Amino acid sequence: MLGNLGKNLTKTMKKLAGMTIIDEEVVKEVIKDIQRALIQSDVNIKLVLNLSKTIEDRALNEEPPKGVTAKEHVIKIVYDELVNLLGEKAEEVEIEKKPYKILFVGLQGSGKTTSIGKMARYLQKKGFNPAIICTDTWRPAAYEQLRQLTENLNLPLYGDPDNKDALDLARKGLKEFKKQDLIIVDTAGRHKEEKDLLDEMEQISAVVEPDEVMLVIDGTIGQQAREQALAFSQTTKIGSIVITKLDGSAKGGGALSAVAEIGAPIKFIGTGERIEDLEVFDPERFISRLLGMGDIRTLIERAEEIEEDVDQEAMDAMLSGKFTLKDMYSQFEMMNKMGPMQQVMNMLPGMGNKLPKNASQVTEEKLGKYKILMDSMTEEELTHPEIIKQSRVKRIARGSGMRNEDVKELLKYYQVTKKAIKGFGKRKMGGPLGQMMR
Ligand code: GDP
Repeated sequence: MLGNLGKNLTKTMKKLAGMTIIDEEVVKEVIKDIQRALIQSDVNIKLVLNLSKTIEDRALNEEPPKGVTAKEHVIKIVYDELVNLLGEKAEEVEIEKKPYKILFVGLQGSGKTTSIGKMARYLQKKGFNPAIICTDTWRPAAYEQLRQLTENLNLPLYGDPDNKDALDLARKGLKEFKKQDLIIVDTAGRHKEEKDLLDEMEQISAVVEPDEVMLVIDGTIGQQAREQALAFSQTTKIGSIVITKLDGSAKGGGALSAVAEIGAPIKFIGTGERIEDLEVFDPERFISRLLGMGDIRTLIERAEEIEEDVDQEAMDAMLSGKFTLKDMYSQFEMMNKMGPMQQVMNMLPGMGNKLPKNASQVTEEKLGKYKILMDSMTEEELTHPEIIKQSRVKRIARGSGMRNEDVKELLKYYQVTKKAIKGFGKRKMGGPLGQMMR
């Protein structure tokens, strides 16, 4: 759903979950990723900047609550603020009187008729018996479309394709369905002039006296949804919103955030053409899914397991520059145990993204080779690699059945890694961020 937005956000969150040290640099990188993802999804730039600022302020200044790691805290902040962007709480349709009247408005092609069918079925499943009135005198096929929908669902429909008076249709329909518990009124989505359409909306609204006006907006228009919602809300008080076509829409994030900003709750989202492709919109659940929170939990847990496995003394020695081939060997062992190379590299304490590209791109195959080479080294060579000169290189190669170049490659890899780790250990970690380093 939502094109690449979910994919990009999930990727960012996984990256974050894989990091062990959360410092300013990491926070900024995460925010950049989020900004990019949201802007690509057509979220308004001002909203994106506000969101970034809040996330940054909170992530860098708020102390994580007791028992919560710095990383979990940042993930939670990102989650909170994205939920905020979409309006926080889920709001259901509350059928609090009889008959409860819902007036559906929206431009032609927005998915209004389809959404009426979807919602009628949804409410039918909840035990209501929705009756539908068609007042769309403008689009000839509207009545027929509703007739088929209601026939399939076995629901009452009032309409008359020969009657061109929308207000008259509304009045007659209401009279016919007085005894129903729920009435859904469909309206036209197009007129010669936009003003005519909005005028008709106002008049029908006056006749129907709806308990709720539901505006249907096509999610593929992105942040323009805001203008559209505002135009409608000038004539009728919009009670709730349905955003359609979020399945695969590249601009869905823009539509959702733009609409949430004007205050009317988004109650449903359309996620496909079939009658069951309607979801009650719950910002919290929606964002959890978008961020891939389930997977993130697992990743955090795995990263924590790895941390427990790490010998802290060896770690400190490493960070102060005493990184030996033996340390590298045990790192390799751990990686083998933990799975995919790239992911584990990111999880390793102190390494994060700090390893040079070529170092983190060592393939599993190479790792195997390096291990065999190291198995042919003496204890002294492993703890003091600097003593490995030409004659030792030859001996190690022979002993392991490999070439001199392989030994040299391993030594080079060791040097690069050592340099990277040393550089990282020297970096100053002051202020509240320093405390985040665990
Ligand atoms: P109306 O003119 O507003 O009544 O729009 P319709 O209900 O006839 O829908 C217009 C088109 O959008 C139809 O082809 C629908 O199948 C399609 N549509 C409606 N909702 C969705 C949705 O959530 N996802 C997708 N992919 N298509 C939808």
